[in-house]
Amino acid sequence: MPGLIHDTEEHRAIRESVAKIAERFGVEYFLERGRTGGHIEELWKELGSAGLLGVHLPEEYGGGGGGMADAVVVVEELAAHGMPMLIWVISPAIVGSILTAHGSEEMKRAWLPGIADGSRKVAFGLTEPDAGSNSHRVSTTARRDGDGWVISGSKYYISAIDQCEAVLLIARDADLSTPEKSRLSIFVVPTDAPGLSFQPIPTSIVSPDKQFTVFLDEVRVGPEALVGQAGDGLRQVFDGLNPERILVGAICGGVGRYAVGKASSYAKERQVWSTPIGAHQGVAHPIAQAHIDVEVGRLATMHSAQVYDRDRARSAEPANIAKFAASEAALRALDQAIQTHGGNGLAHEYGLSELWFVTRLMRTAPVSREMVLNFVAQTSLGLPRSY
Ligand SMILES: Cc1cc2nc3c(=O)[nH]c(=O)nc-3n(C[C@H](O)[C@H](O)[C@H](O)COP(=O)(O)OP(=O)(O)OC[C@H]3O[C@@H](n4cnc5c(N)ncnc54)[C@H](O)[C@@H]3O)c2cc1C
Repeated sequence: MPGLIHDTEEHRAIRESVAKIAERFGVEYFLERGRTGGHIEELWKELGSAGLLGVHLPEEYGGGGGGMADAVVVVEELAAHGMPMLIWVISPAIVGSILTAHGSEEMKRAWLPGIADGSRKVAFGLTEPDAGSNSHRVSTTARRDGDGWVISGSKYYISAIDQCEAVLLIARDADLSTPEKSRLSIFVVPTDAPGLSFQPIPTSIVSPDKQFTVFLDEVRVGPEALVGQAGDGLRQVFDGLNPERILVGAICGGVGRYAVGKASSYAKERQVWSTPIGAHQGVAHPIAQAHIDVEVGRLATMHSAQVYDRDRARSAEPANIAKFAASEAALRALDQAIQTHGGNGLAHEYGLSELWFVTRLMRTAPVSREMVLNFVAQTSLGLPRSY
């Protein structure tokens, strides 16, 4: 594979096993499931059995004992085969990382092996209608009830909850809440708990993972549902949000590679004048530029994963930069691939246009382009804050 990333032996082996499985299923399988509302259970199971869902999770809980850099290789390679997998980022990455860092021994034993082998999935519920980019404003409450809790409120844009046994939910401690100071806690809430319901949000995204509004009407959970310390949820949740940003960078690196690969193959073959269209610099240069941008995004992503693996407390800046660089690069690369294909760029047969909205999503979520710029302006550059 051409490019600036030089894989270790181990990463090359991971890439090869992902590629083998992804090629067997094919991009059409993935897009067809996305189009028709189906899931990718067979593919997910195979990835789990091959140890490719828990590469970053500890060995004693069924994982591969590697780090975020290994997860980047898996997620990027899937996307490079036209399979940008939101659920990978949610269940193994965000939830797996938060439970590994803050779950009790019992909780880790209960959830991590199933997350790693693909037999169990857990959704992630942070965003609310009135608390999007501002997670401090979460208004879903958790009220103490005996030794357990009662949770009420709503969440939206919760991906893939229809496939999940539980949702990792961020709620405000009802007794301690003030507008100024967040007192957030994290709970593992079973999706079949009485009082929990959800409704699909129709979007233009072609993906097997759909989004839902989730309603919590006096949902009772026991003391075992609490992750880590009550009131420490905001700090704990960042142990999942940085992996999320890093792996969105990985998805984008993969989509970028996929787009550049398709654009260059087509440009070598398609001929409408006396030479293949790739001989026209108006076609070749934007593809070359897309390749450069995608490679820079991939490097930033791998760097952020390595920083996370060394010292996760320092990973916020590299994770934000990687997510920004890789998502902008992927979108430009995909646009150029569509343009290079002329009218065919919009035909399902070429497997490009259907990836548009899931790639466009990465400019908005999990953290918007503007919020990354705010972070860099304030945290990296020390500029004053407007909000
Ligand atoms: C397909 C999809 C899947 C998702 N999956 C999940 C999931 O599984 N779990 C989950 O918890 N969430 C999920 N989300 C939610 C996602 O994280 C949010 O959409 C995202 O954080 C942005 O929040 P918002 O949509 O409320 O936008 P808002 O916060 O309302 O922002 C609207 C616009 O205003 C801009 N803006 C806001 N504040 C500022 C500011 N201070 N300075 C400059 N610009 C600003 C934003 O950048 C954005 O462009 C998902 C979203 C989508 C679309």
